[in-house]
Formats: sequence, structure tokens, C-alpha cells
Amino acid sequence: MTENMRESMEYDVVIVGAGPAGLSAAIRLKQLDAELSVVVLEKGSEVGAHILSGAVLDTSGIDALIPDWKSKGAPITVPVKKDNFYMLGAAGKLRIPIFLMPPLMNNHGKYIVSMGNVCRWMAEYAEGLGVEIFPGMACSELVFGDAGEVKGVVAGEFGKNSDGTPSDAYEPGMELLGKYVFLSEGVRGSLSKGVIAKYDLAQNSDVAKFGLGMKEIWEIDPAKHRQGTVTHTMGWPLNANAGGGSFFYHLENNQVYVGFVVHLNYKNPHLHPYMEFQRFKHHPMVEELLKGGKRIAYGARAITEGGWQSVPKVVFPGGALLGCSAGLVNVPRIKGNHNAMLSGKAAAEAAVAAIKDGRSGDELAAYETDLRSGPIAKDLKRVRNVKPLWSRFGLLVSLGLGGFDMWTNNLFGFSVLGTLKHGKSDAESTGLAADYAKIDYPKPDGTLSFDRLTNVSFAMTNHEESQPAHLHLNDASIPIDVNLPKFDEPAQRYCPAGVYEVVTEEGKDPRFVINFQNCVHCKTCDIKDPSQNINWTVPQGGDGPNYPNM
Ligand SMILES: Cc1cc2nc3c(=O)[nH]c(=O)nc-3n(C[C@H](O)[C@H](O)[C@H](O)COP(=O)(O)OP(=O)(O)OC[C@H]3O[C@@H](n4cnc5c(N)ncnc54)[C@H](O)[C@@H]3O)c2cc1C
Repeated sequence: MTENMRESMEYDVVIVGAGPAGLSAAIRLKQLDAELSVVVLEKGSEVGAHILSGAVLDTSGIDALIPDWKSKGAPITVPVKKDNFYMLGAAGKLRIPIFLMPPLMNNHGKYIVSMGNVCRWMAEYAEGLGVEIFPGMACSELVFGDAGEVKGVVAGEFGKNSDGTPSDAYEPGMELLGKYVFLSEGVRGSLSKGVIAKYDLAQNSDVAKFGLGMKEIWEIDPAKHRQGTVTHTMGWPLNANAGGGSFFYHLENNQVYVGFVVHLNYKNPHLHPYMEFQRFKHHPMVEELLKGGKRIAYGARAITEGGWQSVPKVVFPGGALLGCSAGLVNVPRIKGNHNAMLSGKAAAEAAVAAIKDGRSGDELAAYETDLRSGPIAKDLKRVRNVKPLWSRFGLLVSLGLGGFDMWTNNLFGFSVLGTLKHGKSDAESTGLAADYAKIDYPKPDGTLSFDRLTNVSFAMTNHEESQPAHLHLNDASIPIDVNLPKFDEPAQRYCPAGVYEVVTEEGKDPRFVINFQNCVHCKTCDIKDPSQNINWTVPQGGDGPNYPNM
């Protein structure tokens, strides 16, 4: 069988990715016009399998989409009761009173949720409206029309040999064609990256910025569990090395989400984000909480941090970028799910109006207008200077200045700082190995802290080994010839799943090994490689992590 034998199916709207953005778009399309044909394609083995979020949910998105979500049984049941914020030193902590923070930072009225479970529920809701959802279908290519517009995607290609040739079990996949194609792939989507480059969508926006979020689910001693408590920390162990922070969200069943975010603009190529997370858990405050508990799941995902000034143009001929494919996270609030939902809703409304007018394959300008002037703009604009201030001046100054800026934005609707620029991309921020000290990380103790490969087994990730690696190098010589001498090949450390190794054997040249089977689809390599030589592409559908309730 060959690629030319692909069958095609036609829909009104084709949606790539069953996250909050894609599912919201699907639901809104069918709410507005039950006759529309809508398909959602998801690379995870089931909806929710690849969803990793905090998550404290600001319900403004779901309120706008499904106002009666409560009575419809949405798994949004743990209201935030207590909000803590600490600055950490190596052994101590300083509580920052919440009243010093602008109201937008307050988590009261929000809910602690598993976004994986919220997405599973939204998918059922969408199917009830007649949306077709196909999990296990990775969208690997875009299909273009004669005028250069996006008119569909290729999904469900299976059975390639490791050298890329078709095996006996080869399935060429299908072309799913639509009047409009929505890309809701989340952060650093592989098709979205291609579309942004092809249509030059980022020409008028600042560079994209990212963090790496790592997360464990812990089951803790019931005596220490405080359902509804949200705690954020900043400071140790990152300090001057890198920006970032942690979160603890006490959900139900004595479980706590323990998360750690490292901003990917760190300079020292010896920094090991995963090991920073592990040593963080030995802080007395954290140790006290987790002692006697057990880690039951692990995962990692990049998070978009560029904010308002980095949002690219979100429409292109034949489609639109939704949610984190457009970078809609409010960084100081660490929240993007509400904006993902609102973007899905707005794109759907624009598409329904266009289809009613007999249009297809053009730009949905109404969606761009809504995004630039509606609730998403309001949410992102007032925090737009926090990240650039942090990148320039570090944590303490940015807390003061960023806080002041958010207050003036909040009270008066303007910033005395205007809109600050981000400067370099995260890849360009990486400094030379020779200019920075190596960091000596304590060995994980196997109780509170774990080695990377043990933890990866708790992501339940799985990739069919006989397929080609889905992590492509533009130039196979760069890791050893360029990255190793200049940056001590940081892929060995920045990958939170231990995918990349430099193997040195006596009498032999060092080798760069890609253990793609371990990949948890976080996309950090695509973002942070200083030579921008790694392209993250989709493996065959159904492969990747199998997160329970992340
Ligand atoms: C550690 C961490 C903590 C966070 N905490 C919070 C929080 O507390 N509150 C909050 O509101 N936000 C939080 N966020 C941000 C939030 O997770 C994102 O804003 C949100 O997930 C964006 O939704 P999305 O639908 O755009 O993308 P995603 O949720 O990433 O969903 C994208 C989906 O598309 C699928 N997909 C991708 N590419 C393809 C393809 N080519 N073919 C088929 N399927 C594909 C993926 O498998 C996935 O299921 C956090 C993020 C991280 C990483």
C-alpha cells in the first residue's frame, strides 16, 4: 500500500487535538448548528491520555461554553479554599500575604481539577452533540488546496519500518478534509509550527517563550491532606540559576499535584531541570508534606510563557490556531485552560458564521478580532510585562515591579512600562558550557526523589519500537560536533524523560542516542536545543504517555 492510496473524508470542520481548546470548539460548533459535521483527532490512546496541566481551573471558559456544567456532572468539584504563596530559601520559607497580590492572582472561586478528566467529560459531552472523536489518530501532515490554503490533515498513518519504508502492516492513513481546520495541538504543536512558518504568522509578534513543567501525583498521609488548598512557591532551589517555581494542589482522595516549572530561558547549559525538581522535594516544607506518601504518577509538558506580545496571528487561509498552539497562557497566574476554551468557542463562532455565508478555506478574521479585543486580550494584556521583567531583572525585582505593573493595569487599565520585549529565544539564551559552572546534584533517595527513568515508568509511556524515531535531527552531526563541545550537549539534561544520551565508550567516538520510546511529548527538545536542530514530530497514533488524572 502507498501514500497515494489514501482515502479521504469530508467534514465541515476538522479539529486537531482533543484538549480543552479543540473540544470547546467542537462543542460550540454543534451548539450553534447541529447539522455541521465536526471531527476531532487525538494522538493519545484515549482522550485525556496526553493532557498534563496543573490544574487550578478558572471557570470563565467553561461557564461561557456550558453554563450548567455543574448540574451536567462535570468533574469540577473541588473549590479552592486556601491560597498560600511562599518564597523559599534553602531551609526556610517566607509567607507572602495574598492581599499584596493583585486580585487577578487570587484563586478563590477557582477549582482544583484533573484536566485529563475534564477533557474526558467534555469529549463525552461533545459526542452527545454528534461530534465524531477519534483517539489514537496522530495528524502527521497538512493537506493544502490549489490556492495554498489548508484544506485538511493526514491522520492515522501506521506501520512504517524504522528506516521509514512501509512494513507489511503499513496503513497509509486518511485525508480528513474540512472547510476549516483548527489546530489545537497545545504548546509547540508540530503542525502549528509548520503553519506559523509557512504563513509567517509570527512576523509582527515577539519571540515565543516557554517553561518546562514537571508534575507528580502524590497520595499523602490523610492527616496532612487539606482538600482545596493551593500553594505556590518561588525561590530555592532555582534562585539565580533560572526562573520558575512550584505548585501543590490538594485535590480529592488524599492526592496532591506536585508541580515544578523551570523557565527555559536559563543560561547555564549544565542546569538539569528534572534534578532541580527532585532536589526541591527535599526542602523541609516539602519533605514534611510528602513524607510517608507515595508518588503514583509522573509527567512533563512545556508551557507557553510568551503571553500577549508573543501571540502570533491566529488565522491563516483555511484555519486557525487555538489555545496553547497560539500561546494563550497567563504566566503569573499559570493558567491557560480558560483561554484555551474561550479561543475554541470564538473560533467556532467565526467558522459557523463563515459557513452560513457559504465561505470556506479563507481566513476567519472574526476570530482574530475576538481574540485581540475580547476576554482573552483582557486577561493577557494586564500581565504582559511580568515575564520580560523576570527575564531581565530576576525574581526579586520582578516580583516588586511586576506586582506594581499588574496593580496599575488592574486598577487603571494601563501600564507605565508600555509593552516590554522578551529579547532572545529560549534556545538562543543558552550560554557556553565553558562559561558556567557544573552543578552537582544530590543522588535521588528513591523515596522522595527518583531517578529519571524510574519516574518515566510512572508516565506509562509507550512507543512501538519498530517505527522511525519521531524526533528528527536536521543534521545528525550537530549533537556531537557542535552541541557537545560548545554546550556539553544539554539535551542530556533538559529532557525530563531521559530521551537523549551521549554514549562514550573507551576507544570509540562519542555517540548521540535518541531513546524515543521514553518520550512524554513535552516538546522541550524542539524548544531548547541551542542549535535548533531537533524537530519534534508525531509518532504513530496511540503512542506516548498514558496519564491517569493529570
Ligand atoms: C505544568 C503545567 C501546569 C499548568 N497549570 C495550569 C493551571 O493550573 N491552570 C490552567 O488553567 N492552566 C495550566 N496550565 C496550562 C494549560 O495546561 C494549557 O493552557 C492548556 O492545556 C492548553 O490547552 P490546549 O487545548 O491548547 O492544549 P492541550 O491541553 O495541550 O491539548 C492538546 C491536545 O492535542 C493533542 N495533539 C497535539 N498534536 C496533535 C496532532 N498532531 N495530532 C493529534 N493530536 C494532537 C495532544 O495529545 C493533546 O491531547 C499548565 C500547564 C503546565 C504544563
